[in-house]
Amino acid sequence: MPSFETTMLIGGRRIEGQGVPLEVENPFTEETIAMVGTADEGQLDAAIGAAREASRAWMRTAAVDRAELLHEVAEGIRARTDELAEAMTLEGGKPLVENSDEVSWVVACFRYYAEIGRDSAGRVIPSIESTQLAMVLKEPHGVWGCIVPWNYPLLLLAWKLAPALAAGNATVCKPSELTPLSTLMLADCLDPLPPGVVNLVAGGGDVGAAITADPRVDGVAFTGSVETGKKVGHACMDRVARVNLEMGGKDPFIICSDMADRLDVAAKGGAWAAYLNSGQVCTSAERFYVMDDVYDDYVNAFVEVAESLVVGDPMQPGTDIGPMVSASQRSKVAGQVEAAVSSGAELLVGGDSGGNDSGHFYSPAVVTGAAAETSLLSEETFGPVAPLVRVKSLDEAIELANSTPYGLGANIYTQDFKTILRCMREIKAGTVWFNDPLTDNDAGPFGGFKQSGLGRELGREGLEAFQETKHVHIESEVAPKEWWYPYSQYAGGADQPHGA
Ligand code: NAD
Repeated sequence: MPSFETTMLIGGRRIEGQGVPLEVENPFTEETIAMVGTADEGQLDAAIGAAREASRAWMRTAAVDRAELLHEVAEGIRARTDELAEAMTLEGGKPLVENSDEVSWVVACFRYYAEIGRDSAGRVIPSIESTQLAMVLKEPHGVWGCIVPWNYPLLLLAWKLAPALAAGNATVCKPSELTPLSTLMLADCLDPLPPGVVNLVAGGGDVGAAITADPRVDGVAFTGSVETGKKVGHACMDRVARVNLEMGGKDPFIICSDMADRLDVAAKGGAWAAYLNSGQVCTSAERFYVMDDVYDDYVNAFVEVAESLVVGDPMQPGTDIGPMVSASQRSKVAGQVEAAVSSGAELLVGGDSGGNDSGHFYSPAVVTGAAAETSLLSEETFGPVAPLVRVKSLDEAIELANSTPYGLGANIYTQDFKTILRCMREIKAGTVWFNDPLTDNDAGPFGGFKQSGLGRELGREGLEAFQETKHVHIESEVAPKEWWYPYSQYAGGADQPHGA
């Protein structure tokens, strides 16, 4: 069993948390692998104070120098790929191969923002008169709190941290209480940065809430559940702090009739979208709408893929599906499936331990015949379950796709261009994928319609989220304007000149 770095990073120093310790469990062995001290009140105060102090110099650092340092951070993370991926696997249960991928995406994200952060600082706009210069400046706010969940601990942090730093902000970052280890290990990779620019603190919701409420924190970037996101949103709105919310989803997945000759591909793509990271992806496919004429064949093809998946030790090469992150996540998922089955749905495959003696396993499940009003089809599941629903037309599929309060992502399998255009325009989701589920792109904004979120991460939008906008108006000639006082100049019926 490897030993883990459990210190926090505050003002450039490694400090043991003095608050109530977190017990970090390996979801495969169900053993405690580390105890992590959380930030007590004084330590959190120090972390926010250190960020505030460091932000003054960091926002004045030339963008080209910030870029250089972010590339160094990226290189440090890349060099530690194996240890970071292993820590994420041991604390989160995601298969090692997926965690190695995650680290490579983190590196790419830092490199992307290192570059676009030095590409532009705003724009020049047409001025009102030729003697003037008018500009829109993009400036850092100061300090951002970054609060993340457990399912992609490093990636979801990178989507906040890299653009926040590239924009010139300092940060206080809090990982989930379930997966603090990989985040605390980042401290070594952050050494190139000035002390205090990134602070890493451990803790639960109380620490997150304290970051959110602190007036020295100018903005909060949050990823997590809708329930918590609303609390963060309210707390930020109370003091009109900036806020970016990435929340839950209930992504639809539509399989069109024209896929009849490629149902094998649509089934493999669907299974990957439903079962990746044991279905614990914010953009997991959670509702499959399958056209009537291909439904039976699609169900058969899907079951075949589900049955072929290797469920087991996430550290072992060849494992497709690891355990879920915790016993409570597992029981929530099992509860939704049981409720659907008791109201008439059929569990065709999965839903057991997959032959494992320990671990929070829920083997990949396929459910048919669930009613639209069951929680399985209307609330976020966040587990490896694919409910397949028969639909009669594209109209019905689109209507059902748009029928929940969520709008994070959507997937469609079709080879018909007209169908692509229709779905692209009519489906209410932040990302719509055709024939290639769940592929992220650093340059493509990511976020939700409706209750799935507010604001965007990634892309230029993901940088602007961490920038304040300032309009600057410069007149080069110091002379009175003809529209100023006295208004008696118009009293005789003279034309009023232009002005504000
Ligand atoms: P969660 O909402 O329980 O916790 C998320 C984070 O918020 C944790 O760090 C937690 O400690 C912190 N927190 C809890 N209460 C808080 C409060 N009052 N104030 C501030 N912070 C607080 O979510 P989770 O269970 O860790 O993650 C799963 C959820 O995340 C799912 O709903 C999933 O859809 C969502 N998610 C969304 C995206 C996205 O990009 N939209 C990505 C991944 C996960």
